[in-house]
Amino acid sequence: MNRYKLERTNRSSAYLGNCEVCGKFCSEVYHLTESRKYIRVDTGEESWTYAGCIDLYGHEECLKKVIKERGGKVDEVIQKNM
Ligand SMILES: [Zn+2]
Repeated sequence: MNRYKLERTNRSSAYLGNCEVCGKFCSEVYHLTESRKYIRVDTGEESWTYAGCIDLYGHEECLKKVIKERGGKVDEVIQKNM
């Protein structure tokens, strides 16, 4: 099962570029990171990796759609206060 994190950037597309999902301007850009659980070969422990995972900037709704398409859910939303 993959883990999905949405982070508020408090910045618009003017600074970060258009939504990577729909290609349109966003007044509030979110950052989506996916991580994947794996078993460490050396210790046999469970750990998380970003290898081969998606990393996207865009609208909150577009990113939520991507997560849904990948069969996941939003596990964590990070609000940045500036
Ligand atoms: Zn979008």
